Amino acid sequence: MASPILRWARVVVASLFVAGAPIAVADYVLGHHALAEARVETRAMAERYLERSEEVIGEGLTILRDLKNDGHVTCSFADRQVFGARAFTSTYIQQVGLADARGTLLCGEPMGSLHQPIRLPASERGDPSVMIGVLTDGKADRQAFVLMKLDDDARLVARVNRSALDFVTGPDYLSAAQQVAVYLDDGSTWMSRSGTWSPEKEPDNVAETAVSSRYPLRVSVTVSSAAAHSTVAPLRAIILIGSAFLGLMVFGWGAVLVMRGDSGGDVFTRAVANQEFIPYYQPVFDIFTGELKGCEVLVRWQRPDGSMVPPGQFLPYAEATGLIREITTQLMLQTVDDCAELYSRNRSLKLSINLTAMHFVDLRIVDEIRSIYQDSGIVYEQLCFEVTEQHPLKDLTLSRTIIQRIQALGAQVALDDVGTGHGGLAYLQKLGVDIIKIDKMFIDNISTDHSSQSIVETLVELGHQLGLGIIAEGVERVEQVEHLKGIGVTTAQGYLFAKPLPAKAYLELAATMTGSLAAPPADAPGDAPTGEDETEPKAAA
Ligand code: C2E
Ligand code: CA
Ligand code: CA
Repeated sequence: MASPILRWARVVVASLFVAGAPIAVADYVLGHHALAEARVETRAMAERYLERSEEVIGEGLTILRDLKNDGHVTCSFADRQVFGARAFTSTYIQQVGLADARGTLLCGEPMGSLHQPIRLPASERGDPSVMIGVLTDGKADRQAFVLMKLDDDARLVARVNRSALDFVTGPDYLSAAQQVAVYLDDGSTWMSRSGTWSPEKEPDNVAETAVSSRYPLRVSVTVSSAAAHSTVAPLRAIILIGSAFLGLMVFGWGAVLVMRGDSGGDVFTRAVANQEFIPYYQPVFDIFTGELKGCEVLVRWQRPDGSMVPPGQFLPYAEATGLIREITTQLMLQTVDDCAELYSRNRSLKLSINLTAMHFVDLRIVDEIRSIYQDSGIVYEQLCFEVTEQHPLKDLTLSRTIIQRIQALGAQVALDDVGTGHGGLAYLQKLGVDIIKIDKMFIDNISTDHSSQSIVETLVELGHQLGLGIIAEGVERVEQVEHLKGIGVTTAQGYLFAKPLPAKAYLELAATMTGSLAAPPADAPGDAPTGEDETEPKAAA
């Protein structure tokens, strides 16, 4: 039985889960998919750039190889004319010429010089006479050169067009946020382009590298993962809206359930409304004479399936929710149905009813007692109301007033569980009760444990001095009875004599013991009790 706060918390958690789970799953699956797609695209882009780079270098090499084979290997006018013609007809090569061993350009067609030597060699792969180098020719961007060694002093040179790698590939959604870089094996950069986007902005971007098997070349393409995710953004939005809608539906549905629960829908509240709480009666005896003195009313929850729930399992909830008041009212009404006839014939029989701290916050309980028991067949003088010491009373003065009003009706008030709770002797002093009930805890070891003996003896003595009645609870063994008799306790209840009994059994016992002809009501509840309680009462001592 959860508190309203707990039930609301459950509804909120369930709604968040219903909304959150698909979002989380979709996020994972879509994110995964988007990144996988982006990886494939990025790899294709890297390969495309590598392909172009190889194509460019391949073209340069073809030119240089032809020149070498045809013997155009000098800076003579005729050779330079051939250089110029080849550069002119080439797509990617803008200048052809001759360089010395350091890479300093000796001549080049169309005309042009370099501010510094071409850095040689980047590296060599396959043909050791072929080299690729890069340098920044006094301008911002880099240029690549393909060189072919003629001898120790001279190399044919093909200068690659700056725009050779100047193209965009890949899908549109990745074009704005990508970085492309072409490197030579020595780490020098031939080309690098990233626009306004920088991979450092995103730690988890997608990067793919393609390495040439023909030349000392490596292409690296990095794309933004955010850009990758943007492809699934519309789908994500649809799932987000759908899930939020689902979550809202669950919340609304849960809220209805909780509110219904608050106003009578929850199991316990329904049980109270269905009057599933019934009184059991534990007989109380005079241990000197064996005479039945009456009983204590102990609540049981009789579930619709017939099972019987003991008070320890629901009283804390009943007290916390305040439902104990309604339950107590139902029990009192039921005691009239069950016992009025017997009690009207036997005015010496007492009926003891347990109250809680909740009954001591206003005067309602006094009115209730009056309205239920006046003209009921049970007179106030037959009633006793037990107030337990285990739960603190909020307002001792008000509690005292309520007790006085109950006593004014003619009923008695007992202090229950004396010595086990908060009140101590203060309750005894301030509440003005008529009876003290000595808890089972002290009775248990009364014949063996010295401190239990002392406590019980002290309580009994105190009770006698204050003129209070004393009832010993939880008597289970004969030697306890003997001990109690020895210290002057006359009244007791306990399993030794009888467990709490359903109405029918209590009435039968009472009829037998008092010689009363009172017949039990035909529909008395609890004909088939379960658990600890018994139908068959034992003979009193
Ligand atoms: P309590 O008022 O001290 O009642 C005595 C408890 O001790 C009962 O347990 C009774 O069955 C048990 N008892 C009596 N004699 C023996 C015995 O010889 N041996 C053992 N082992 N137990 C014995 P029960 O019925 O389970 O009730 C437990 C507590 O629940 C009660 O303690 C009382 O504080 C509370 N309670 C029971 N019915 C009501 C009720 O109608 N209203 C309120 N407010 N509290 C109730
Ligand atoms: Ca009690
Ligand atoms: Ca008690």
